[in-house]
Amino acid sequence: MFGLFGKKNKEEQVKVESPEFMQLVEKWDSFLNKMETRFNESLVNAEEALFDNLVESDYDLTPTMTAWQSIKSQLMDLGNKVDTTFDEKVKPQMLNYKEHYEILDQGAKATHLREKIIFKRLDRFEVVLEGKISSRFYNHAVKFLNEDFQCTQCSAKIELKKDIFHAHYVSCEYCNTVNTFKPNDKISAIRWIVDNIAKYKVITQWDLMEQAREEFRNIRPPHEGQDSTEYTTAYKKREDTERAFWFKYFTERSEYLPDYKETIEHDMDNKMKWFYEERKRDLNY
Ligand SMILES: [Zn+2]
Repeated sequence: MFGLFGKKNKEEQVKVESPEFMQLVEKWDSFLNKMETRFNESLVNAEEALFDNLVESDYDLTPTMTAWQSIKSQLMDLGNKVDTTFDEKVKPQMLNYKEHYEILDQGAKATHLREKIIFKRLDRFEVVLEGKISSRFYNHAVKFLNEDFQCTQCSAKIELKKDIFHAHYVSCEYCNTVNTFKPNDKISAIRWIVDNIAKYKVITQWDLMEQAREEFRNIRPPHEGQDSTEYTTAYKKREDTERAFWFKYFTERSEYLPDYKETIEHDMDNKMKWFYEERKRDLNY
């Protein structure tokens, strides 16, 4: 994973580097590897623990989501720990053999692990995890809509619509009495978790959007008079992938909540607003 840095080091080491410094680099690399392994294992353990939590709490989402937030902040601390370890422990030792500017690439390994591996993987993991937990919750909660709901007047069984999760009126088809259906807590909660399910379902579009953002971040804004084709192309790719993501996302969501079908255009405009404001500032259109 650190091939980029590792290779360069080896070439330099042959010529100029002292064995003591080489040892420090080796120790540092092995520390980074260990941290990455620990991070990856933590993700696997987190997923198992949270699913257990969901079932044990009889599908109460609050403790599960709270537990996830606390695991997440611990994992982010792991990323920060890598940086402080370099600054406080590794760097002072390396400075015994090298100048400050000569060990910048060693410090960059910490930033790489934190930003490009830990934080990035955590972002995606969250979409997947919340999506999986929410799907499992949905499958559990939606069963309550299949339970018998009877007319208060004639006791006939009333069929409920499977996509209305809030309280509503239903007329009895036998005696025409208007009944009020009051969903239990689990059914009501479906409304709040379909966002997670929808996001997880369109993770392919999410990946493409993130990739376009990453590519954009790696391009320097052109100075006046410079060719801006690369920059505007990257902007366009961001626009396309972001629009595609939000469109698919809102469409998926409206499969669960049909009353959202009519607001897809409007919801997309809201989501894209900040993008167009940014583009207006940068490119003036
Ligand atoms: Zn009736």
